[in-house]
Amino acid sequence: MGSEVRVRLAPSPTGYLHVGGARTALFNWLFAKSKDGRFILRIEDTDRSRYQEGAVQEILESLRWLGLDWDEGPEVGGDYGPYFQSERTETYKSHAEQLIETGHAYRCFCTPDRLQKLREEQEKAKLPNVSGYDRHCRNLSTEVGQSLLAVKKPHVIRLKIPFNRTVDFHDLIRGEIAYETDSLDDLVLLKSDGFPTYHLANVVDDHMMRISHILRGDEWISSTPKHVLIYEAFGWEPPTFAHMPVILSPDGGKLSKRKGAASVMDYKKAGYLPQALFNFLALLGWSPGDDREKMSREEITEIFSLDRVTPKAAVFDEKKLEWMNGMYMRETSVDSILRDVVRMWVDQGIVARETTTDDPYLRTVVSLLKDRSRTVNELAESATYFFRDPESYEEKAIKKHFKGNAAVTLKSLCEILQQSDSFDHQVLEEVYRAQAETLEIGVGKLIHPTRLAVTGVSYGPGLFELLEALGKENVLRRMKRAVEWLESHQDR
Ligand code: GLU
Repeated sequence: MGSEVRVRLAPSPTGYLHVGGARTALFNWLFAKSKDGRFILRIEDTDRSRYQEGAVQEILESLRWLGLDWDEGPEVGGDYGPYFQSERTETYKSHAEQLIETGHAYRCFCTPDRLQKLREEQEKAKLPNVSGYDRHCRNLSTEVGQSLLAVKKPHVIRLKIPFNRTVDFHDLIRGEIAYETDSLDDLVLLKSDGFPTYHLANVVDDHMMRISHILRGDEWISSTPKHVLIYEAFGWEPPTFAHMPVILSPDGGKLSKRKGAASVMDYKKAGYLPQALFNFLALLGWSPGDDREKMSREEITEIFSLDRVTPKAAVFDEKKLEWMNGMYMRETSVDSILRDVVRMWVDQGIVARETTTDDPYLRTVVSLLKDRSRTVNELAESATYFFRDPESYEEKAIKKHFKGNAAVTLKSLCEILQQSDSFDHQVLEEVYRAQAETLEIGVGKLIHPTRLAVTGVSYGPGLFELLEALGKENVLRRMKRAVEWLESHQDR
């Protein structure tokens, strides 16, 4: 029982779940899965001034989209909801009071101004620690304290940081870490409005929720000695800590909104697949120990271990994510993306509002474009010519493929296609090959002008599948228009 692995994600709803937060969520989830443990979601929402409307919803949606389900929580509509710290403020309060009773904490009535003054006095007197100074609330007599309390003077509750000591802990990723207590101020546990600080609520909950391992980003490492001292004050055993490496942008700087620090939902909106983001995030600090990069969720879950998480900074390379997403596009099913694609086409006004996903033509278009698109959005955006005749031809391609006697070539192809009973891609391919032989040219000399004529661009899916999908009528109309265009631009 005691050795059960229990981890948690403890986001503050001060913004959206960005990729760093998602990596933390993922590593916790993977660690829980690899150890047959439990992954708990706790919303740390006691700082009401930084609360952002809609953030909780977005965090839940992001986790669900990535498939990072949590294993327990209060029941909401037949499902587990997260734990909310805002519903537990009384618990934190009574715990802070408990530390006063045991002599580990004290009420501090100082205003920031007074604290500053004390600090200056302390420096002059060359005392090592401001709270050791006798005019500090830490050293207030019980009587004075009681009388201030009686007149309801606002106050906070602070932890008595022990003087002149080292506080150390073992980090599973970074090894032994030690801090001098004299470098730490007596930290606030309970604010004057009765709300706990992050430190108190976080420690109380991690203890009460029997969290065995704390896996969090390394920006929290400087909080850990404070937490260890809070555990100590309560007489509790601290969990095991592991601080995950920072994530940098490719230029070595901090991740910024411009350089990948987007939210998980931004990636969803940009047409990324959850399985690709899952795979990509897993490699931000962890590696399988060989050069495998594309790995399924199951594979990663199977072999994930904290031993292979490095303390070295990870690099968020958006190009690599794009490449990886392209690989996942190839293996994803048409069905899994069809709805999103159709919605985008509706939004772009390419298809009618009432279009449904059971139109076989739409399925064909998606399956033809899927393998060559890096994202769902790229797919949706490159499909215009499946629905509309091209309005222009790609400038560079004109020079390459609409040169010489392209008009004559296209005209003769039109005549041959007109007579073809079947528009099956295999039949079309034979027709093209036969014509190339007759003209004693490479078949590419027929394929490229045809493609440019029917799509307006020089790239796309296999030409014969494309022609089959568009159908005889569309193809012939477009080719004839290209011939007309060529004839009217002959003097170019
Ligand atoms: N509420 C903190 C956050 O927003 C939790 C940090 C921790 O995991 O202890 O990330």
